[in-house]
Amino acid sequence: MRVPIIAGNWKMYKTMGEAMGLVNAIKKSLGSFDKAEVVVCPPFTALNTVYGLIENSMIKLGAQNLLWEKEGAFTGEISPVMLKDCGCEYVIIGHSERRQYFGETNETVNKKMKLALDMGLMPIVCVGETLADREANKTNAVIEAQLKGAFADISNDDMANVVVAYEPVWGIGTGKTATPDMAQAVHKFIRTWLTSNFNADIAEATRILYGGSVKPENAKELMAQDDIDGGLIGGASLKAESFIAIARNAIA
Ligand code: PEP
Repeated sequence: MRVPIIAGNWKMYKTMGEAMGLVNAIKKSLGSFDKAEVVVCPPFTALNTVYGLIENSMIKLGAQNLLWEKEGAFTGEISPVMLKDCGCEYVIIGHSERRQYFGETNETVNKKMKLALDMGLMPIVCVGETLADREANKTNAVIEAQLKGAFADISNDDMANVVVAYEPVWGIGTGKTATPDMAQAVHKFIRTWLTSNFNADIAEATRILYGGSVKPENAKELMAQDDIDGGLIGGASLKAESFIAIARNAIA
């Protein structure tokens, strides 16, 4: 059985004080909830502060990006060593906003995946098509190219620590959500790809999250799909009530 993950991507929101307020509220309303792994991904500046509040709790810490080097003259970048030092267990890699605005490519995603895994961080690797891709019937081809790129030379052993997030670009922050059937079809495609390119056990064990305007009202139906193992939540993770409601509504 795959343990679902509900992960909150806080993007470039929350000062340290605001982050403390949010994580304390999440912790309080989460209580002894244990039906999913709950992960929060604050901005870099709040990582360690948040870690101080969730250490020894069931909430896990993730970062939103990293560089593929451990250290060096890379002004403005952040290394996996630093993320580990802040208490991170997870790191989001290849989010569509990074691909769209910051030149992230399938190759850089792969470099980041490799170093994250070497350093003991668990990547949440994002894939997803644009509206133009979908309208041109290119969804599977785009997802396949992203998977091929991200997973080049990743070993079977490392796959135990990888999470995939399917996030249709047209659904992120737009209020438009894929229907459960549309999402399930792509999740199934990803799992089949994992079977062909790794093996059936790895495909069965890999968590594949859905992301894109997930809200308390639509989470249950999405998460009920066979191949959807939780969510990567943006906007709705910025308020404890909606984030927790998604976790509680979604996971039976
Ligand atoms: C995201 O940032 O990964 C995301 C899915 O955002 P939203 O839930 O706001 O669409």
